[in-house]
Amino acid sequence: MERDKKIFLPESEIPQRWYNILPDLPEPLPPPINPATKEPLKPEELAKIFPMELIKQEASQERWIEIPDELLKVYRMWRPTPLHRAYELEKALKTPARIYYKNESVSPPGSHKPNTAVAQAYFNKKEGIKRLTTETGAGQWGSALAFACNLFGLECTVYMVRVSYEQKPYRKIMMQTWGATVYPSPTNLTNSGRAILQEDPDSPGSLGVAISEAVEDAATHDDANYSLGSVLNHVILHQTIIGLEAEKQLQIAGEKKPDIVIGCVGGGSNFGGITMPFVRRRLQGEDIRFIAVEPSACPSLTKGLYRYDYGDVAGLTPLLMMHTLGHKFIPPRLHAGGLRYHGMAPIVSLLAKKGIVEAVSYNQNPVFEAAILFAKTEGIIPAPETAHAIKAVIDEAIKCRETGEEKCILFNFSGHGHFDLSAYEAYLAGKLVDYEYPEEKILEALKELPVV
Ligand SMILES: *Cc1c(COP(=O)(O)O)cnc(C)c1O
Repeated sequence: MERDKKIFLPESEIPQRWYNILPDLPEPLPPPINPATKEPLKPEELAKIFPMELIKQEASQERWIEIPDELLKVYRMWRPTPLHRAYELEKALKTPARIYYKNESVSPPGSHKPNTAVAQAYFNKKEGIKRLTTETGAGQWGSALAFACNLFGLECTVYMVRVSYEQKPYRKIMMQTWGATVYPSPTNLTNSGRAILQEDPDSPGSLGVAISEAVEDAATHDDANYSLGSVLNHVILHQTIIGLEAEKQLQIAGEKKPDIVIGCVGGGSNFGGITMPFVRRRLQGEDIRFIAVEPSACPSLTKGLYRYDYGDVAGLTPLLMMHTLGHKFIPPRLHAGGLRYHGMAPIVSLLAKKGIVEAVSYNQNPVFEAAILFAKTEGIIPAPETAHAIKAVIDEAIKCRETGEEKCILFNFSGHGHFDLSAYEAYLAGKLVDYEYPEEKILEALKELPVV
């Protein structure tokens, strides 16, 4: 008899603490830099847009950070998430590898993002904030934050890139259902938005402009703060609940350790979340590999430089030391919208520089081919972002078939693709474009890296 297909944890086994990798990193993380003074950023300088507790977490040297009871109660709405053994995928691949996936698609908004959204809403609420602002591209982060704000009685203002607002109405409706106010960005409500509209009243918008609008809104209203869904240390901290649960579940499945842990990377938060507890064990001497998977059209880890750069296209945010393609780089219109970010979480970047995290990149068509195989074997239709991880898992499992190695492979199933069916439609119609690696554009953008 096969062992269980799904490994559940009882709610009483939800981790009570997040794991903070900062004190365990092989070398200290270079500090964020104030772009005006070129000096390390002072924590107070962030207080206009973030609550003190998150600012503290961002630089904390405490290895374990307590999850407040009120938040644990909210996590129990969908956590612990199941760990699945991908028996059917293994059979289809005829691999001796054992493949497990942590299913973050079971959260109400359908991805891992609410793990940090609810934490951010909670700490803001506790400090008296009434409203959170954010940007969203395709709408995954916006819907996670709308969901979280509703749970804690906060207002939520989402600046949604205009083209997505018009072309992808369902995520917008989801946000509105949870009570958020959603504006197509650029708006005429902010200086940054008005400046763009003056030049081009029909501007389709971009994530960069939407960030500028959300930050400006928060910075100019005392009772509002800004919220970011990836990249920052506190976001990865909150996401470690994924890896901490997976660690317990693998043990229940009779696995001593995973040999390989795989995740897709946009800003690095779902990858960071599943891997950090295992990175800790690698640093203590265990033999575990980590593979971050990105699109070849936006290859920050595989082709970017490890440099200080802005987090946004407009160049308004503090400078972060990270793998970057240059903040001016605008990737092609990939279907994996969540992976179209020019930079990478500083924590993931440092680990990649140290050779602890490996990176691979794939084009869209092989990624969707992997997604379809997964949907046909395991049943769940993956988000295009998640499908990148699946492609790498399949490649590793095929290597095991060739060598006969019985490796244990763990990956993060970061979200389902129910709102991304137009991408599947394009793939099934043979109309999905495999973008050339945009070398020229990247080299251009890298020339504009700020001098520190
Ligand atoms: C947003 C998103 C990602 C990419 O973001 P990270 O911060 O790198 O995790 C990946 N998968 C899904 C389903 C997403 O919604």
